[in-house]
Amino acid sequence: MSSPPVELKKKSDEFYVKWRAYVGASGFDEFVEFAVSLSSFSAFLHGKGLSGLHQISHGLEQQVLALFEDESSHQIEPGTLGDLSSRIEGLRVRVSNFIDNNQPATEQRRVHAEQAPTAEPNTIHHLWLVGSEPEPWHDLIAQLAYFGIHTHVFDWTSVPTDTAEPAIVLIDATDLALDDTCRRIQGLRARFSATDLIAHSLRSDFDNLKAALAAGCDFCFTLETPEAVIMAKIIEVCGRDEDPPYRVLVVEDSWTASKSIRRTLEQSGIESFAVTQPNEVLLGLRHFQPDLILMDMYMPGCTGVEATRVIRQHAEFLSTPVVYLSGDSDVALQVDALRLGGDHFLTKPFNPVILNAVVKSKIERYRTLRRSMLQDSLTGLLNHLTSKERLVAAVKAAEAGCEPLSVAMIDIDHFKSVNDNYGHPMGDQVIRSLAWLLKQRLRKTDLVGRYGGEEFIVILPGSNAEQGLEVLDRIRRDFAQIKYPYKETWFGTTFSAGLSQFPSSASAQSLIKDADDALFDAKRAGRNQLIWRH
Ligand code: GH3
Ligand code: MG
Ligand code: MG
Ligand code: MG
Repeated sequence: MSSPPVELKKKSDEFYVKWRAYVGASGFDEFVEFAVSLSSFSAFLHGKGLSGLHQISHGLEQQVLALFEDESSHQIEPGTLGDLSSRIEGLRVRVSNFIDNNQPATEQRRVHAEQAPTAEPNTIHHLWLVGSEPEPWHDLIAQLAYFGIHTHVFDWTSVPTDTAEPAIVLIDATDLALDDTCRRIQGLRARFSATDLIAHSLRSDFDNLKAALAAGCDFCFTLETPEAVIMAKIIEVCGRDEDPPYRVLVVEDSWTASKSIRRTLEQSGIESFAVTQPNEVLLGLRHFQPDLILMDMYMPGCTGVEATRVIRQHAEFLSTPVVYLSGDSDVALQVDALRLGGDHFLTKPFNPVILNAVVKSKIERYRTLRRSMLQDSLTGLLNHLTSKERLVAAVKAAEAGCEPLSVAMIDIDHFKSVNDNYGHPMGDQVIRSLAWLLKQRLRKTDLVGRYGGEEFIVILPGSNAEQGLEVLDRIRRDFAQIKYPYKETWFGTTFSAGLSQFPSSASAQSLIKDADDALFDAKRAGRNQLIWRH
């Protein structure tokens, strides 16, 4: 739902131009260009969470890739061409309908960094619950509302046909036969281009899940799935952050080869920077900070393996993936490269679709690894160490820009008794929900970390403690309202927080200490409150 229609239109036009060029010339080169741009369009739709459109483009992509023969035998039968053509036109119509219904004026935007912090939800998401009685979902609906997710309940006969797409449709499969469920999922899939479809209460056998996914469901849950897991998925889908573009450093002595590689990467929205001399590679790495290195194997005076060996002497680039481009199959050199942690070989001339797919999958893995080093696994927030590092950097930036900065230390009240009374997993759920609430309410430029077990740190660049106090107090009040269902009843919890501000507290260390002292005061004063000592 977050895709700017302008970008979608541009991407869709690009791929269509390539298709028309192929239809005009019927050459192998045009076919490759078309396949690359279709593949990149498909990846774009997936990346933007445009689930319905992606399903169509993915099917098309599979068909096109299956037609990849070698250059000499390339020819597509008229029947296949006609079939491709009508599927492509169908996709174009779906894209243009989606653009018409999602003009920028109605787009929802995240609160901008320049704005003062507020505690309003950053974005309102709509969720449709279809086919269910609202009664059993009452608690879930109430909890979702605190995270800016509004639920609308419909039975199958009253699903509206003329309103904007919701972010999520939650489909109740209880009492429905499998083919009936699938038909209904297909109907919704054909209608919604960006909505995530989640089916729940499916029977948990392989065939049921396979059929529901094939019908166009994005996620499936079975009768046994706990409500908390469904809730976690909903919040994850609504809170999906967009990844910054992938970055690749191309190390290749031939300008022509380097230019062609960079063009291929660009078609997939991958940013790149090129160096032609192996001895410039460290400069390139420091300057461009890539997610991956594409390394020519043979360069004058230096092999790719030798260049990688130099790179690996530097701790900060120890885990940056390296993919080699090699002209032939020199086994000894390849073994050497693999020993140095080389990730993959692509043999020239490379297939551009494969090049992009390899690069993307390596970068995804690399980013997941980095994320797991920087983030806390229960909440996805910054971990203790990273929070402290980010605070040091934020203080430096505040000092340089003569800006204020405020810090809050937050601790859940009487949390031991949550664990004791409702069990550790329920305690984890409470920790996660406070994490979501903070992330959902604060600006993208604010930093939220899990500082300890049920202790959080919030860093608000550009805000003084008074502004911080106002925002966090609103979050405190809302957090205290959340009801956690437990057996036949429910419980709630609260938190306390202490604040400090820069420059009154002059360093990262003293900001933490002063906020901690204030937190201690808040606890002593009876909990469920915020304190800032001037
Ligand atoms: P206070 O109001 O004074 O903060 O009381 P409290 O009970 O919250 O006391 P304290 O902050 O010292 O207790 C923290 C408890 O949190 C202790 C520990 O068992 C629990 N805890 C720490 N990490 C986790 C976690 O990851 N999951 C769960 N479920 N519990 C945790
Ligand atoms: Mg070379
Ligand atoms: Mg604590
Ligand atoms: Mg506590």
